Amino acid sequence: NENVEKLERHLARFREGGIANRIGGQDRSGAGGTFQTVSPVDKSVICDVARGQAADIDAAAQAAHGAFPAWRDMPAKERRAILIRIAEGIEARAEEIALCECWDTGQAWKFMSKAALRGAENFRYFADQVTSARDGRHLPSPTLMNVTTRKPIGPVGVITPWNTPFMLSTWKIAPALAAGCTVVHKPAEASPLTARLLVEIAEEAGLPPGVLNTVNGFGEEAGKALCEHPMIRAIAFVGESRTGSMIVKQGADTLKRNHLELGGKNPVIVFDDADLDRALDAVIFMIYSINGERCTSSSRLLVQDTIRAEFEAKLIERVNAIKVGHPLDPATEVGPLIGEEHFAKVRSYFDIARQDGATVAAGGETLGDTGYFVRPTLFTDARNDMRIAREEIFGPVLTSIPFSTEEEALALANDTEYGLTGYVWTNDLTRALRFTDALEAGMIWVNSENVRHLPTPFGGVKASGIGRDGGDWSFEFYMEQKHIGFAT
Ligand code: NAD
Repeated sequence: NENVEKLERHLARFREGGIANRIGGQDRSGAGGTFQTVSPVDKSVICDVARGQAADIDAAAQAAHGAFPAWRDMPAKERRAILIRIAEGIEARAEEIALCECWDTGQAWKFMSKAALRGAENFRYFADQVTSARDGRHLPSPTLMNVTTRKPIGPVGVITPWNTPFMLSTWKIAPALAAGCTVVHKPAEASPLTARLLVEIAEEAGLPPGVLNTVNGFGEEAGKALCEHPMIRAIAFVGESRTGSMIVKQGADTLKRNHLELGGKNPVIVFDDADLDRALDAVIFMIYSINGERCTSSSRLLVQDTIRAEFEAKLIERVNAIKVGHPLDPATEVGPLIGEEHFAKVRSYFDIARQDGATVAAGGETLGDTGYFVRPTLFTDARNDMRIAREEIFGPVLTSIPFSTEEEALALANDTEYGLTGYVWTNDLTRALRFTDALEAGMIWVNSENVRHLPTPFGGVKASGIGRDGGDWSFEFYMEQKHIGFAT
């Protein structure tokens, strides 16, 4: 299709020149040589990528440190104008970003074409917050005029995963820049293309050299060095819970401030009084879109036993109709999984489900042998103590568990190490209030799929994370509160 031709034109430069690190506005090769990024669609090599090491992180941290005072002190209006121009630059290159993201990650065009524009929205939203970011409060006491202000914390590290990498990177980088911080970004090794496009767009928009630096490479090398670097004041991390605890350990000696957005095993609870057609649409969307490679996906369906048979029958029909295919085909809903290791992990749960006594009601098999494709999968007859109900599979795989009472539903929903999101479907308002109050999750939607509204707090509890993003919560992280007391 025509998307493939367009993609080839955009990839030509990567194929020829590879991807360098971008440090202080300059291309730099990696101290560790290069590694290759591979497309999950057909396992072909896309290009060579700089393999960053501690020396590259040091150069980037020095650049971010050097650029910090001028960026911090730039008048808010000027900083705002640059961020708006970055948003415009993203919009102008949204198609290129989406095409590269699909090819690098296997995500379907249907969803990625929107994700690129959401990246622009993140910049626009935080651009509009620049002028108020430093506002403090006046808290007079009998003897003092107390004034608080906020100051950007300094150069920060941003470490991002491979699922919707462009959008997630902007989610961190936009508020950091709006706060007046400078950034060293370490994108996921599996999906480096769009991070390169972002730093190019930012520089073209007038972002001064060194304010945003990109160092590619592996977590244990470049990522670890970033956490350990003394000039980096904070780490904004998105990734697995296990990696999150490594981030904290690695940053302990330099007393890093950490914001951790981690994994999930999120429940969607469907009561028998809900609008079942709407619930069905949302259940499908929240686990089978974006390949199910999504931290907020509802991977555990808790369905009331009175409607279970009917609901599962409709689900099976819908799951079997999901179109798996080439991510650049506009009709494709599920593309290939990110890579070999993740493919093996997701696939392994097909056997684990059977061994543990669940039923594979749909899917449960791989598809073709050119790329990392699996069929959208539904497990039924599951219990919450099975591995398919406890572990984050991170693929288009849903586990359905029946319940009979509200109390049981709540106990099942909370019986997990994670606590990122929850989705509740009921038309009983009192129950919705009671249930959401007791549900252990950072974010809950009632009679709705996940809808991100940028001023609201985003983040998880338990093993799903520490800290919040969004609106002023982002500035709490990227800025320091300062108190000044004047004697009166
Ligand atoms: P991952 O933890 O393997 O990797 C994430 C990033 O951390 C990569 O850039 C990687 O190179 C880096 N990294 C790995 N080891 C490191 C180390 N020791 N020190 C520093 N950096 C290191 O995660 P992934 O597999 O890329 O992403 C999928 C995971 O991300 C899932 O668990 C998913 O739920 C989670 N996620 C969470 C959110 C959220 O908002 N809560 C959003 C998206 C993804």
